[in-house]
Amino acid sequence: LPEKTRRRDIHAWSPRARFEPTIRIGVILAEDACGRVDLRLTGAAGYVGPDASAEVPIADGTALSIERSDRGLHVAGVPVPLADGPQVRVRTLPVDAVEEGCGALVRDVVAGRGFHWQKRIDQLLPGTIEVRPAGDGLALINEVPLEAYLAGVITAEMSGACPAALLEAQCICARSWLLAMTERKHADEPFDRCNDDCCQRYQGVGCVTPTAFGAVRQTYGVALMTSRDAVVDANYAKCCGGIGESPTAVWGVEKPGLGVFVDAPDDDPVQRMCPVSEENLRAYLTGDWLAGAQAYCGPNVVPPADLTQYLGRVDDAGEYFRWSVTHTGAALLELLRSQVADMAAAVALHDLRVMKRGVSGRATRLAIDWADRDGRMQCSELASEYAIRAALHERFLLSSAIAFDLRRNDAGQIVELRLTGAGWGHGVGLCQIGALGMALRGHDSATILRHYYPGARLGSAY
Ligand SMILES: [Zn+2]
Ligand SMILES: [Zn+2]
Repeated sequence: LPEKTRRRDIHAWSPRARFEPTIRIGVILAEDACGRVDLRLTGAAGYVGPDASAEVPIADGTALSIERSDRGLHVAGVPVPLADGPQVRVRTLPVDAVEEGCGALVRDVVAGRGFHWQKRIDQLLPGTIEVRPAGDGLALINEVPLEAYLAGVITAEMSGACPAALLEAQCICARSWLLAMTERKHADEPFDRCNDDCCQRYQGVGCVTPTAFGAVRQTYGVALMTSRDAVVDANYAKCCGGIGESPTAVWGVEKPGLGVFVDAPDDDPVQRMCPVSEENLRAYLTGDWLAGAQAYCGPNVVPPADLTQYLGRVDDAGEYFRWSVTHTGAALLELLRSQVADMAAAVALHDLRVMKRGVSGRATRLAIDWADRDGRMQCSELASEYAIRAALHERFLLSSAIAFDLRRNDAGQIVELRLTGAGWGHGVGLCQIGALGMALRGHDSATILRHYYPGARLGSAY
């Protein structure tokens, strides 16, 4: 095939193909129940139409509104009326001029679907915007070159105000995870990745800073590679809590290049806590050693008050290294009845027992003892850190590295549960707040990546 017609999408990419792929990101999904898409061209002219054969030019500043009609999708705001069709594509030009803030501004996009930080925000999307029917509403897909997408990812996952070393490390992880394409979460949908924590965060390019652009340019095409020259499936998470988790504990599979790490200098007391077990769990979560701990993601290296400026714009600043949550017995019962499929008949809770933990103390198997209306005792099991986090908080528990303090009444029923926990996220791979701590301490991106991916090396993907 001539160069021009060769496929450039992510599915045609391999470590040997050596081209920068284009990626399709789901920005508005069926589940968002979005009835209308409002967008405005910003710093860019472009074209709009059902496809390249029937598009009309639109000028910078044009405001479009897309809704469903009897005959497909109807576009309002175009200079020349378009026939309603099965989809609408808005091409903003040039596709890679994100540095100049070119693209289409889309209103009220959901960010943080289903997590405690869910919000609606405006997003500046470069490249092509495709709108199509989905469920009862609309879906919006953003088609962008991978490097432009990465500029958006690193400034959504963390803030563009972070030090260059953090943004470079984050960029290489995000690029690697994307290129590795091992999880097929959206295999049946018309996009490659969604724009949210389910995959990795992408909120357009409106918040990209010169430092962030520098980080993308500086690392162009660089990825984490395994010893067999495959791209590492470089998972990452917000705050490990002091010890990183193994992919085996979280997903039940080994991932080349990823492994356990202690997120602190070699002489820090947290080194002695790994692995965390039932025996040292309390010491790990609340011990006196914490006062002087130099864990990179801990408050002595990254003070919580400073965190606001470094986190993503949808993140709430808070205490993530160590935290606690308290539920009344009634609230906990309500939560578990709604979250755990086989607990709908529960009328009282008697015990919560962690059956299995990973090295970072993350519970990966939880047994719940409960009684039904007839007083019969039953036991339900949650079999992953994800299921445990989903069940123990109405907006997703920060992490499953937790200890329980239960108060019971005379009948042995739980009347209060206090959860004491460490970290935010699954804890596998780069610890984002820890990497920030390392960057603030003067480490460069290569050192940061060696620390979090001890089994990987840096290589060029294109
Ligand atoms: Zn996703
Ligand atoms: Zn950490």
